[in-house]
Amino acid sequence: MDAKGVAEELAAAARQAGGKSKIAVMRIEIGELATISVPALAREIASLLPGTSVDISEKKAKVQCECGFCGRPQIGMRMESGEPDFSCPRCKKKYPQATEGDSVELKDIGLE
Ligand SMILES: [Zn+2]
Repeated sequence: MDAKGVAEELAAAARQAGGKSKIAVMRIEIGELATISVPALAREIASLLPGTSVDISEKKAKVQCECGFCGRPQIGMRMESGEPDFSCPRCKKKYPQATEGDSVELKDIGLE
């Protein structure tokens, strides 16, 4: 996912929800497995909506692995590029299919 594109989508959704009011805060939920750089996303939003603070929370991920495991993956450090590093805790296979926590969503906005 491209931080700029995602930021533009989120800002458009926030503007639409806020109407003519100034948006004080945007609450964004980022999945643990979303392929995005969180600092880059925050920077892009700050340039699109100056003065709006961004409250970012993380959504826990779930995966469905070929070995039959279904649940929370083992997650390593998110890389600088935003690529998450995750694997199946049972069979250690890298990058099992994500069923939850791989997207970025605007949860709520607060108006001034
Ligand atoms: Zn597995």
